[in-house]
Amino acid sequence: MDDCIFCRIARGEIPSKKLYEDEDVIAFHDIHPQAEVHFMIVPKSHIESLAHATEEHARVLGRMMVLAPVLAKQAGLSDGFRTIVNTGRVGGQEVMHLHMHILGGRNRLPPMLARN
Ligand code: 5GP
Ligand code: ZN
Repeated sequence: MDDCIFCRIARGEIPSKKLYEDEDVIAFHDIHPQAEVHFMIVPKSHIESLAHATEEHARVLGRMMVLAPVLAKQAGLSDGFRTIVNTGRVGGQEVMHLHMHILGGRNRLPPMLARN
């Protein structure tokens, strides 16, 4: 995916505030943080969204899940955090390369969805 933003970040073509990188995943701070701490864990291979994930992605998705608490702790989120995977139009996904948001800070985050 030549012009995918997160593929380009994974290839090092676009700079990012990187927290972690290995063969399969990269983690970097969100450019427009929505909490005191807001970063993303992203598979290096292009998967459009969680709706496009199949059994062959189980390992990398598992790695992302297991990395989340490790990186959250390193980022100082010792009292909990939130993970979000926006998916497709209804989920409000803006970057069409699967990513897991990790958000937290000193204070409790607002409710996950606004209550009417
Ligand atoms: P989505 O709505 O797709 O779940 O979230 C996409 C996120 O990617 C947004 O929070 C947005 O701020 C972030 N983002 C978009 N472009 C860039 C970029 O070039 N660099 C970084 N670090 N984050 C980005
Ligand atoms: Zn991509």
